[in-house]
Amino acid sequence: MSLARGDRPGPRVVLPEPCLIVLVGAAGSGKSTLATRLFPPDQVLSSDAHRAMLTGDESNQRVTRTAFAILHRQLARRMAERVTTVVDATNVTSFARRALVRRAAAEGIPAVAIVLDLPPVLVLARNATRPGRIVPEGAVRRQLDDLARSIRRGSLDADGFAAIHVVRASAELDTLSIGRGP
Ligand code: GDP
Ligand code: MG
Repeated sequence: MSLARGDRPGPRVVLPEPCLIVLVGAAGSGKSTLATRLFPPDQVLSSDAHRAMLTGDESNQRVTRTAFAILHRQLARRMAERVTTVVDATNVTSFARRALVRRAAAEGIPAVAIVLDLPPVLVLARNATRPGRIVPEGAVRRQLDDLARSIRRGSLDADGFAAIHVVRASAELDTLSIGRGP
């Protein structure tokens, strides 16, 4: 018997426990939506939430350094406590990804990447039409370029992740589910 279209299972990401989950994707690719759907809020560290906490404005780029310093301190603490943590930030550069992987590796905890490599037209459209914060198009294009380069040049593969899951279509993103490993 074939599955009805709506029942078709999506990709399943099996996560070790504990682990660090690094979301990777340009603004508008759906990272925060995915994090909200799949993980309890207390597991998620978000760079936008830290900017909002500091200034009342999640798009305030002037506090980016401070926001990430706090995020890293919280991540280090959580890894030391061996609690599974999701980092919701663009993470489109190796520099950003490796800094996170190092925090987990320092405690012997595996890092798993979930990469939202959706068609650029879709990402740009979602950024432009979302309620609330719209990131300038030029910034989103740079993020898309950085991610494409990371994938093309294989730097993502060399960042130290235990597993990398790449989502390329919106339907996969909508149906992606999480399982727990052995
Ligand atoms: P982020 O910038 O990567 O955190 O992206 P968001 O999660 O904020 O999503 C950007 C916009 O795309 C929002 O308006 C979301 O409602 C929309 N969006 C995110 N994921 C999906 C999805 O799977 N399907 C559809 N149709 N829209 C989505
Ligand atoms: Mg977001």
